[in-house]
Amino acid sequence: RAKALGRSRYHVFDPSMHQSVLRRLELENDLRRAIEREELQVFYQPIVDLSSGRIVAFEALVRWFHRKRGLVSPAEFIPVAEESGTIHAIDLWVLQSACRQLQQWQKVGAIDSKLSVGINLSAITFLRPHLTEEIRRIVTDLDFDPERLKLEITETAILENKDLAQAKIGELQQCGIKISLDDFGTGYSSLSYLHELPVNTLKIDQSFIRRMDGNPQNRDLIPAIITMAHTMEMEAIAEGIETQGQLNQLRKLACNCGQGYLFSAPLDAPSTQDLLASQPRW
Ligand code: C2E
Ligand code: MG
Ligand code: MG
Ligand code: MG
Repeated sequence: RAKALGRSRYHVFDPSMHQSVLRRLELENDLRRAIEREELQVFYQPIVDLSSGRIVAFEALVRWFHRKRGLVSPAEFIPVAEESGTIHAIDLWVLQSACRQLQQWQKVGAIDSKLSVGINLSAITFLRPHLTEEIRRIVTDLDFDPERLKLEITETAILENKDLAQAKIGELQQCGIKISLDDFGTGYSSLSYLHELPVNTLKIDQSFIRRMDGNPQNRDLIPAIITMAHTMEMEAIAEGIETQGQLNQLRKLACNCGQGYLFSAPLDAPSTQDLLASQPRW
């Protein structure tokens, strides 16, 4: 008994750690087949023009319905996909599915030809060689206007290699594709690098919006970010708007667009089409 206890000091066995390692291995393994098993789905969250109250875009957000575990959140499986090399296939699958869906909605008159779609790209996908070619091929095959495509990337993707990122952004924009800087304000935002990056949109991270109602110190950052975006001829989108109070303040600050639960949670394709049919205005 004493011997066993003594040994356990060297062989630290924590059952909860064991569980999470197993879960991760299982997810990693299953993720490789998730696309072919049709377990991935694209959800859509409306992006609303704050002055007109109309839906002008959607953000495509991937969902994984694991056949045994049910819904697995992207916060859990995206990092696994990044480490196991499946993220690129997932990101491009989401892009293709969303473009195809928009084409179909347009065909049935649910949306007009201007409505755009935001696609999240992990840093790994963004920095991949030939990405522009791969995307161009997808949109060409679908006869989808690349001007309606907005790629959402984070500051980490850019900071890993500024020169490469800058060249990549230029290349994508040459094809008419737009670039959004996602989760703005959470990374190593520095004005000098932002100035050198020709991104089209700043998405203000929801942590700023959440703090709007409270402490004025936090609140005062938002007008500064919006002004800065406009000075650099970028559009500002507020993420995670949940209250009418936040919406009212953002309107006063001339923030261009917003998304959040106040308007709608991300929805599956049929529910999104129902939402479009009801012509909501906020
Ligand atoms: P993100 O791109 O910043 O997306 C916004 C997240 O905020 C989404 O979480 C959305 O559901 C959530 N959200 C929207 N409105 C509200 C609100 O009013 N309140 C709150 N509390 N949350 C709100 P989701 O769908 O769980 O996605 C999390 C993250 O996973 C995304 O953050 C994005 O970084 C990543 N992700 C999602 N889909 C993809 C994808 O296809 N590829 C890659 N590489 N990453 C993805
Ligand atoms: Mg995003
Ligand atoms: Mg974000
Ligand atoms: Mg995020």
